[in-house]
Amino acid sequence: MKVPIDSLNLPLFEDAGVGLDLLRLDQIHPRISGNKWYKLKYALAEINASDCRRVLSFGGAWSNHIHALAWAARDSGLEAIAVIRGERPNDLSDTLMDAERWGMRLHFVSRQQYRDKYASSFLRQLRDHYGEFHLLPEGGSGSRVVEGCREIYQSIPSRQYDLIACACGTGGTLAGLIAACQGGERLVGVSALKGGGFLNSDIRRLLSEAGCDDPGGWEVRLDDHEGGYARISQALAVSLWQFHQQTGIELEPVYTGKVYLSLQRMLQAGELSRGSRVLMLHTGGLQGLRGMRAALQKHLNGVVY
Ligand SMILES: *Cc1c(COP(=O)(O)O)cnc(C)c1O
Repeated sequence: MKVPIDSLNLPLFEDAGVGLDLLRLDQIHPRISGNKWYKLKYALAEINASDCRRVLSFGGAWSNHIHALAWAARDSGLEAIAVIRGERPNDLSDTLMDAERWGMRLHFVSRQQYRDKYASSFLRQLRDHYGEFHLLPEGGSGSRVVEGCREIYQSIPSRQYDLIACACGTGGTLAGLIAACQGGERLVGVSALKGGGFLNSDIRRLLSEAGCDDPGGWEVRLDDHEGGYARISQALAVSLWQFHQQTGIELEPVYTGKVYLSLQRMLQAGELSRGSRVLMLHTGGLQGLRGMRAALQKHLNGVVY
């Protein structure tokens, strides 16, 4: 698939002689956000070819994965069920409203139950209630993810980059890049979560399960999570706002905003050399931005530019 690339002419990067381009995975599909299209592709193909037409997965109220799965399942005529973290609120999030409108069944559970979501007794309970289903792990991180995400790398038209950067939640997207790139470019993942050290071993496991070599040449930056998953720091809010002012392109604070902030910090720390070319993945997630605007605004109040 052809994916558009934008050259960003950001003063900060231009002054340092660093070229920054953006791979617009957010633009590949009108509904299925960015990397989730690749992550779901082979898992859904497998389910489509099977006799059981029901798929169940897990996520939070603003999950990009649940949103993408709801549309993709509807598109292929599959029945989809989402186990959602937390009690059902009076007002559903925009994400879950979309999902329900697209025919997904929502199954709310307590946070305690959600932590134990893969317990066999809980899964048996779900199967008793809904019937047999295919289980897609949280974040869509199944065995076919590396195969799908390899195609992200293959969509990059030329081998002209020194560094490619993306966000990490489960690490599936970065694992796909590593599998396809095989040491060609330096790959940097930015953990969207606090305590993301597990990503290193999870990525190695994903690669080995997919039968791919780990050529090295990649790293996960663990300290640009800004307080944890879905947390917003003022630095992050300001960085997103400036990026939008300067490029007209929106990022969101959970994943892509942290990648941009991390690249800014690398630049300021002298870790990106003059003359180098950087490609940042816009992995989408803008549907989730609907739930973050008020919090972002709060951080921007009182900021003087
Ligand atoms: C899910 C998601 C990611 C993280 O992808 P992983 O493969 O889980 O590491 C990054 N960016 C966005 C916008 C996402 O929705």
